[in-house]
Amino acid sequence: MRRKLVVGNWKMNGNLAQNKTLLDTLVRDLRGIDHADFAVCVPYPYLFQAQAILSGTNIAWGAQNIAKHGAGAYTGEVSAAMLKEFDSSYVIIGHSERSNAYCESDANIASKFAVAKGFGITPIFCVGETLQERESGVMEYAIANQLDFVLSVSGGALLDNAVVAYEPVWAIGTNKTATPEQAQAAHSFIRERISALHPGAAESVRIIYGGSVNPINAAQLLSMPDIDGGLIGRCSLDAADFERICRAACQF
Ligand code: PEP
Repeated sequence: MRRKLVVGNWKMNGNLAQNKTLLDTLVRDLRGIDHADFAVCVPYPYLFQAQAILSGTNIAWGAQNIAKHGAGAYTGEVSAAMLKEFDSSYVIIGHSERSNAYCESDANIASKFAVAKGFGITPIFCVGETLQERESGVMEYAIANQLDFVLSVSGGALLDNAVVAYEPVWAIGTNKTATPEQAQAAHSFIRERISALHPGAAESVRIIYGGSVNPINAAQLLSMPDIDGGLIGRCSLDAADFERICRAACQF
């Protein structure tokens, strides 16, 4: 039985005062709820604040990107060792907002995945199709390509304790959510693909859904057998919304 995981992706939002209110509220309202795992992925400058407020609670924290290099002349990059210094448990890798805006290649994403795992940080590896890919019938091909690259570089063993996020690009930040059936079909395809390449990893790897999840649609999505949690953008910035999504995950 896979435990559900709900992760907030704050993107480039927040400030010290707002973060404090949001995190203090989540700590208070999620205290003692232990049927699922919870985390927030915050902008780099707020890792210290997240660590200070969330240490010893049932909410983990992490970042939204990681450098593929260890150290050196890489202006603007942040290494796995640096994330580890703030006890980061998770890092989002390959989010479409990054891969589109910064032309991140599959090879880069695969390197980042391996680097995170090497430092004991759980990668949340995002895959998903564009609207054009879905409408032209190549959705599975597109997702398979993204998955295969990382799986072939990293190998099945590296999937232990990793997370895959299915994020249809057309559903991110658009208020268009995949139906529970559409999301389940994609998650089941991802699990089968992992199983074909690395049979041992498929049953345990958590595949979470991201794309306009909100307190209204969360329970239906999270009730599907292959949806092991959610990656939540907009609604992770509102303590009450995020809490309701976390509570929905605990029902299953
Ligand atoms: C995301 O950023 O990963 C995301 C799913 O955003 P939203 O929930 O706002 O669609």
